[in-house]
Amino acid sequence: MDGLNKLRLTGFVLLFLASTGAALPQVSDRALALHRDSLVFDAHVHVVDRQFYHGGDMGQRVDDGQFDLVRAKEGGLDAMFFSLFVTEQYYPARLETKQTLRLIDAAYEQLAKNKDKIELALNASDVERITQSGKIAAFMDLEGGFDLDGDLAVLRNLYRLGLRSFQLPAHNWANNFADSCCAPAKWHGLNDRGRAVIHEANRLGMVINISHGSDETISQAIDVSSDPILATHHGLRSFNDIPRTMPDDLLRKLAE
Ligand SMILES: [Zn+2]
Repeated sequence: MDGLNKLRLTGFVLLFLASTGAALPQVSDRALALHRDSLVFDAHVHVVDRQFYHGGDMGQRVDDGQFDLVRAKEGGLDAMFFSLFVTEQYYPARLETKQTLRLIDAAYEQLAKNKDKIELALNASDVERITQSGKIAAFMDLEGGFDLDGDLAVLRNLYRLGLRSFQLPAHNWANNFADSCCAPAKWHGLNDRGRAVIHEANRLGMVINISHGSDETISQAIDVSSDPILATHHGLRSFNDIPRTMPDDLLRKLAE
């Protein structure tokens, strides 16, 4: 089985595990062996909010919440999107960029505290090097608005700070360049600024995540981007008919 197929299969396993809730699932020896043999990449982990708001160290095992590095390692996690989450409360006073910078600082603090367990990855070959050393590879990723206006200079500076992936809409709100799933349409997808953000992300080598985008945003982003784009956390509309989920035709378009 090649690496990509392993990754696809593991994605399904992770989706399955996530859907089963908190109780530990019983898995067969064969499934466990496959899991252990795979490169396991979790593409959406809200990592530093807990430490940002409540303090603490992600390298310490905790008995509540969904994530710490000890349990991640025991669970066989090899790589992850180290997702920073700027919540809607920061948008009205236009503090989203400031909060993004604070969370990046918190991320670096946690990475420094745990440099024996996890390391920032900036490209694909970093993932191979870091996982071969026995550590978890972390790509810094942003959920929520990096800047509601989509300022390309801000985006470039976030890239320089190590950010390699971001979500196009501002979580469940529209921003000034892309519509969200869950707010009234402002642009019917992307406007010129949104297309410029995508072109700049492509040029820099940043991964665009369209989870939380409206159907129009998702479809247009796939058309505009010269690189593949991701939907890292998305349900299917055929199972749950709400705007936050992915209709089958868009899922096919994304896969193509
Ligand atoms: Zn999300």
